[in-house]
Formats: sequence, structure tokens, C-alpha cells
Amino acid sequence: MRRIYLDYAATTPTHPEVVKAMLPYFTEVFGNPSSIYSCGQEAKGVLEESRVKVANLIGAQNEEIVFTSGGTEADNLAIKGTAYANENKGNHIITTSIEHHAVLETCKFLEERGFRITYLPVDEYGLVSPDDVRKAITDKTILISVMQANNEVGTIEPIAEIGKITREAGIYFHTDAVQAAGHIPINVDELGVDLLSMSAHKLYGPKGVGALYIRKGTKLLSFMHGGEQERGRRASTENIPGIIGFGKAAELAQQEMGEEAKRVTFLRDKLINGLLERIDHIQLNGHPQKRLPNNINISVTFVEGESMCLNLDLAGICIATGSACSSSSIEPSHVLLALGIPPERAHGSLRFSLGKWSTEEEIDRVLEVLPQVVAKLRAMSPLLKNHK
Ligand code: PLP
Repeated sequence: MRRIYLDYAATTPTHPEVVKAMLPYFTEVFGNPSSIYSCGQEAKGVLEESRVKVANLIGAQNEEIVFTSGGTEADNLAIKGTAYANENKGNHIITTSIEHHAVLETCKFLEERGFRITYLPVDEYGLVSPDDVRKAITDKTILISVMQANNEVGTIEPIAEIGKITREAGIYFHTDAVQAAGHIPINVDELGVDLLSMSAHKLYGPKGVGALYIRKGTKLLSFMHGGEQERGRRASTENIPGIIGFGKAAELAQQEMGEEAKRVTFLRDKLINGLLERIDHIQLNGHPQKRLPNNINISVTFVEGESMCLNLDLAGICIATGSACSSSSIEPSHVLLALGIPPERAHGSLRFSLGKWSTEEEIDRVLEVLPQVVAKLRAMSPLLKNHK
């Protein structure tokens, strides 16, 4: 049975060209970039080339990029780093109720240590209101963190509008762009952000490497202490193969993003419309237009997301019931609840995320299999019987 992978938001396969670019840096050019001899300096050279490629993807300067172990570390560094470096100015941070756990748990950690956090609500589509951001600002606010695109429902937030507000107020602005980078165009100056998180494995790079963009002049405290790597902002010997892979993936994304977004949007809309036509009592979650080109999130009433997911898996189709991190949890997704979706409907939600190797045949196959799965599960569903 051919496997159909439609969970690119959880992770992407590493692009073969990325793997090819990485390979020599395991065995041939394996030197430590801090070593002064040629094999170390060669590694240092390619490290800096990769920094330029990642910086180019978001319109940043290369010295504003700090490589990390992934999106989670980038979020932690951005939030804890600014919180502790600017404690003398205030202790208030504004974020949203639909952030990834990497942001929410970091904020919770700070909340337990004396910081005050405002979690802004979102509307039924998952959009944060720039006006709510403005109203939440106090003279103690030191950081605002709003994700660029949501990992579960794909909603793209009005980051540039919020950026104008944070600039006027002179408050640092962080965006978690882990799901957006490489998929939609990003320019840090147009967005008005001071900090931006990325992760290589969401854009066909390897796992375990990410980056934080830190605008020049931003006051940030490091939390990895040791050597002078990354200009003293993140100690530890650099993950050279990973960083090379990230650089290559960023370069490919920049070249292919425009065409790829068009292709994937077509498939996305075909899947959305096809499901809405074929299955009754279902709804699309997230914004109908302001959403990532590859994201589809639906709620199917009277069936459990897990049951649909397992039945699709038996047919060779890999999809998610919520975010990757909550697939082991039976709690309904905090994002869907924040959109005002009742828990029973949130329990019946599925996320499809498409990517570079998704085809129209795969979409047709899902449109054939999912209605059958739903019909079978509904026939056994006590939820439907109780409803009748
Ligand atoms: N932020 C968002 C929006 C994500 O979707 C993810 C991963 O799913 C992360 C952060 C964490 O990234 P990483 O897996 O690289 O730590």
C-alpha cells in the first residue's frame, strides 16, 4: 500500500538536495568552526554562508540570525531572553491564547516567576485583533509575542499591523514563524518584528535545528552559557550538518515558494471543497482566506478525531487530529477551544497539511476514503444515536 503523507505541519521529509548538501559535513569537513586550522575554518565558512541564506529568506542581515536547536529553543530564547534582559523596565508580556506550547509554556514559566502575562483572545477564525493588542499595552509591557501563522488551523495573523503598534509603543515584538517560514513570504522590516522564530524541519530541512532572528540592538539575555559561539548569544559547538541543511532548505524555499504556494493552494481548496460536498455536518476551522496555503482543518460532528485518524492510517493516509504535540493528549485542542468551537466538535477535528510531494491523486484518494470512514464510524456512533 502506498503511503499518503499529509502531515507536513508536523514535520516535512528532508529534501534530497538538502541531505546531499549535508553529507560531506559529517565525515569530510567535520572540523569545529572554532578551530583555527583549515578544516575548522572551512566549516566556519559554510556556517556563515548558511547564515546568509537563512537571513535572506526573511529579509534580515546575516549577523541578526542565531542558530538554535529548533523552533522551541528559538521561542524560549526570544521570550525568556527579553523578559530577563528588560526586567528593570517592566514585567508584563502580551501573547495570545492560540500560541504553540513552546510559547505558552514559556510564558507560564515566567508567570510562576513574577511576570504578568496577558493571553489575548481570538475571533471565530483564530484572528487576533490589533486593537486588542493596543488596549492590552501598559507602561510595564516589555514584550508582545503573536505567532505569524497558527500550526493547527493555519490562520495567518495581522503581524504587520501589530508591528506598527508595537513600534509606536517602543515594545519588543516577537513572532513565532515556525509554520510560516519557507511557505509564505516574510520580510522582518515589513512585519516590524524584532524577534522571529524558525525551524528547519518544517521547510524540508533536518530536525533539531532552527534559528532566532534578533534585530540589531535588541536587548536579550542568553541562557546557554559556555563558549563564544553565535557571538556569545548561544554557546555550544555549532550543529554544522544541520545548519548547512537549514541553509540549503532556506535557499530552495526562497526559489520555489511562489510556484509551490499556488500549486498547494489549488490542492488545499480542492480538498476543502470536496470534503464539504461529500460529508454532512462538517465545518472548516480557521480563516477561509487568511490561511496557510497547505492547511486544512475540519471538524466532523458525531465522530472522534482519533478514530478517523486511525482508520485513515489503516488506508495508508497519515494526518493529524490536532497539533503534533497534542496527538498523545485526549484534551481537546486549546486552539480550537479558543476559536469558540465546543469541546464535542473539537474532539472530531482533523488537520491535513500538504506539501511538496502532495499530488492531486492523493487528494482524490482522501476524498474517496474519508467519507467512507465517517459513514462507518457514524453508523456505530453513540453520539449520533443520542442526537437523533
Ligand atoms: N512553534 C510552532 C508554531 C510549531 O508548529 C512548532 C512545531 O510544531 C514549534 C514552534 C516547535 O518547533 P520545533 O519542533 O523545531 O522545536
